[in-house]
Amino acid sequence: MSEYYNVAEIFGENVFNDAVMQERLPKKVYKRLKDVVSEGRELDLETADVVAHEMKEWAIEKGATHFTHWFQPLTGVTAEKHDSFITAPMPNGKVLMGFSGKELIKGEPDASSFPSGGLRATFEARGYTAWDCTSPAFVRQDAAGATLCIPTAFCSYTGEALDQKTPLLRSMEAINNQSIRLLRLFGNTTSKSIIPSVGAEQEYFLVDRQKYLKRKDLIFTGRTLFGAMPPKGQEMEDHYFGAIRERIAAYMKDVNKELWKLGVSAKTQHNEVAPAQHELAPIYAEANIAVDHNQLVMETLKKVAGRHGMTCLLHEKPFAGVNGSGKHNNWSLITDDGINLLDPGKTPHDNVQFLLVLTCVLKAVHKHADLLRESAADAGNDHRLGANEAPPAIISVFLGEQLQDVLTQLISTGEATRSLKGEVLQTGVKTLPDFMKDATDRNRTSPFAFTGNKFEFRMVGSNDSIAAPNVVLNTIVAEAFSDVCDVLEQADDFEKAVHDLIKEQATAHQDIVFNGNGYSPEWMDEAERRGLPNITNMVDAVPALTTEKAIALFEKFNVFTEAELVSRGEILYESYAKAINIEARAMVDMAGKQIIPAVIKYTTALANSINSVKTACSADTSVQEGLLLEVSGLLAEAKSALGRLSEAAERAYAVKEGREQAICYRDEVKAAMDALRAPVDKLEMIVDKDMWPMPSYGDLIFEV
Ligand code: ADP
Ligand code: MG
Repeated sequence: MSEYYNVAEIFGENVFNDAVMQERLPKKVYKRLKDVVSEGRELDLETADVVAHEMKEWAIEKGATHFTHWFQPLTGVTAEKHDSFITAPMPNGKVLMGFSGKELIKGEPDASSFPSGGLRATFEARGYTAWDCTSPAFVRQDAAGATLCIPTAFCSYTGEALDQKTPLLRSMEAINNQSIRLLRLFGNTTSKSIIPSVGAEQEYFLVDRQKYLKRKDLIFTGRTLFGAMPPKGQEMEDHYFGAIRERIAAYMKDVNKELWKLGVSAKTQHNEVAPAQHELAPIYAEANIAVDHNQLVMETLKKVAGRHGMTCLLHEKPFAGVNGSGKHNNWSLITDDGINLLDPGKTPHDNVQFLLVLTCVLKAVHKHADLLRESAADAGNDHRLGANEAPPAIISVFLGEQLQDVLTQLISTGEATRSLKGEVLQTGVKTLPDFMKDATDRNRTSPFAFTGNKFEFRMVGSNDSIAAPNVVLNTIVAEAFSDVCDVLEQADDFEKAVHDLIKEQATAHQDIVFNGNGYSPEWMDEAERRGLPNITNMVDAVPALTTEKAIALFEKFNVFTEAELVSRGEILYESYAKAINIEARAMVDMAGKQIIPAVIKYTTALANSINSVKTACSADTSVQEGLLLEVSGLLAEAKSALGRLSEAAERAYAVKEGREQAICYRDEVKAAMDALRAPVDKLEMIVDKDMWPMPSYGDLIFEV
């Protein structure tokens, strides 16, 4: 049965948004709250009390019984602790529902259960969540009932950031301050603020829930640790944009509805390159809200899948040999009055402000390529980046024909005098209109591509928060802006100084630009010649956080202290070690308890059948015997590889937590995992399918 609804009516119905506040809050309170948000000040308790009261009344109308401070600790997922609205029971046996301004503004979860990377000892476990009034509260409805969720930042007792949001808000302030400085120099006196705008395209896989439950690797690690390629892979490319099947269509409809109610503007949806893979893109929003929304998108994708008898896999590489999942972080800088600093206009060559901004971005990305790479580092993402899949592990910028041409003019003559124009694209079909081709084609292999009026950072892992990449982007560009403002504010001849800066930056940073095929082996060599870092795994990406360059950058713009950076590095090493440890243990478990016993059953059956054939008649059994020999050989190989993996995992586990342990997991445990997987995948191709103890890739990705 289909249910129809009006999107405009349900959109944002569970969000305590501006319209609701305007309607429900006393005028004075509403104005005070708006001022606080736009001026970035602290909210007074009196105002908070009124807001909290109205928020509670509104939430209770939506069926809410509890409230929670919703925050993003460094575990990669969101956290919450639910409190009921119930206050003291009254003499008449009823209860009062209460929610104070203090409860709205500040919470006190037990910080010791969240990673802090040594920032505080457990005996000083106090941590605070503080209301982020720039991101609206919302009511989430699910099996647990309805809950008022208040987006918050999470800090330690001594004020260090323990979450994703605090540095993000700090970085937004940094880019705001430096952008305004820049705009004023160009004579803009009207824009009050600049906000990084972000749209995160999210890729994901859907598999059948019953089949999923038969795979311990999927359950424990989110990816398959064994699995032979199906006879048909994605080489047919018939999945992409294919007719979205009924089951998936019903799912997407449900996802959209849930997201729309939460004010998340899910806009486009389509099938992706790999079978069973899909993508969802929202309309872009302010960075801070986009980060929250992306968390809601991931939660919703998972939650709704359950209702449709499916499981949503957000792992970067659920199936070896099949295209993985990522996130495209679209980023631009837009003023409160709607000016996009990355909009080149029709003739970029004479848009001086744009050219300065563009060359600043080139400089920022060139100088801090290692940090940008680190912001996308994740144990799961190691299977994509640098593993011959989109995009490569080397950071470079794609500009496209039009901007490349302008850049070339600038570098060679110091002057850009023309911009390439888009041409008319002739379709050759009379009934189809001819249309203007963009002046620039797309490049799908670039990790950081200019796409019209925004940059698209394509390295982010599908499972990760988009906070870290945006923190880096905001801060590195703030630094580049600050550097040029330092020069321009002192310049006698502004026009000339701008002109010189553009030429200087274009020349000094042209090496970060690459418009070719990012997968080609020639690019690896060329990138090396240009001195661009090629960081192929997470463990090698982490040190970028604590270089002198990084510490100076983040401290200058008050985004991270050195202690915070060091702690984040520790957390990353720990999370890497944990991820690989769980994978290794899951493999040992599956191989020992499921796969090896199944293969033994198969060989026993095979041996018995050889004997029966021999007893019954004297027919030739050489084929069966050959098979038995082959399977027994692989079985022995698997058994000994299993032993070696157990040992390697134990050894790594015993190493002291930190970089050294992470290296041990990467170099020893992962190698032992590969050595076990190889014979098992071969066995899967030989052993009777009925006897194989779990669904195959083919079952999982072609039969959703
Ligand atoms: P593309 O086809 O290049 O992927 P889309 O228009 O489909 O572009 O947009 C992809 C994502 O980029 C969407 O989430 C969209 O909201 C976002 N986006 C579009 N314009 C901007 C912008 N100026 N700043 C940030 N994100 C943007
Ligand atoms: Mg895209």
